[in-house]
Amino acid sequence: MNRPELHNIYRLVISWLYPNICPCCEKYIDYNAAFCDECSIEIKPYDGSYVIKYADKFIAACFYEGIVESAVLRFKKTDCGNSYYAFAYRIAEVLREKGLSSATDLIVPIPLTKKKLSERGYNQTELMAKELRFMLNVPYENVLVKKSDTVEQKSLSASQRRENLRGVFTVSPKAADIAGKRILLIDDVCTTGSTLSEASEVLKEAGAKTVIAAAFAKTIMKDTKENRSGSDTQ
Ligand SMILES: [Zn+2]
Repeated sequence: MNRPELHNIYRLVISWLYPNICPCCEKYIDYNAAFCDECSIEIKPYDGSYVIKYADKFIAACFYEGIVESAVLRFKKTDCGNSYYAFAYRIAEVLREKGLSSATDLIVPIPLTKKKLSERGYNQTELMAKELRFMLNVPYENVLVKKSDTVEQKSLSASQRRENLRGVFTVSPKAADIAGKRILLIDDVCTTGSTLSEASEVLKEAGAKTVIAAAFAKTIMKDTKENRSGSDTQ
């Protein structure tokens, strides 16, 4: 029995104690389902073609709006429930659809600063990466370190966001050598892509062969041409 099969059995057993719920509406769902049927219909799959500088590819599972936005915001406040499994599940689905599920050697989550991690108690993208390692049967590692707190990205323009993040990520001295590795870089939400771009650049400088930047949800850019028809902006 391989790791994904073992993990599936683990989820089944855990669901007897903690029944699985839909991250959007909190309705009870099957132990290995991501969202309930009603919410699945409402979630708009991402069909854009956004480009992340320094990354070889960018994929996202859905658009950041409506019930998805509420589920992500809840995920940042509490790690209970099915959120990280469901978000990882949708990313894995898109990777399979695009033939990219075996195009990676290592899963790397976008890190939080030590201060933010101690405040929140968990890194939401690390929880997603931990689930993805079972779904893709690929290891994960906290390769990146976020050095210092930055100004809240939400309040900044696209160019200010890039400047705000300049030099904020480094490769951990404890990390395994990533030279020649194909990295799957994970974030929960991608807005302008500054975070994924900055992290991709650091991974490439450390010798990563390729970087696939993956987010659960992509915001719809109101100030650019990015929209559901898939215009590109960056
Ligand atoms: Zn639901």
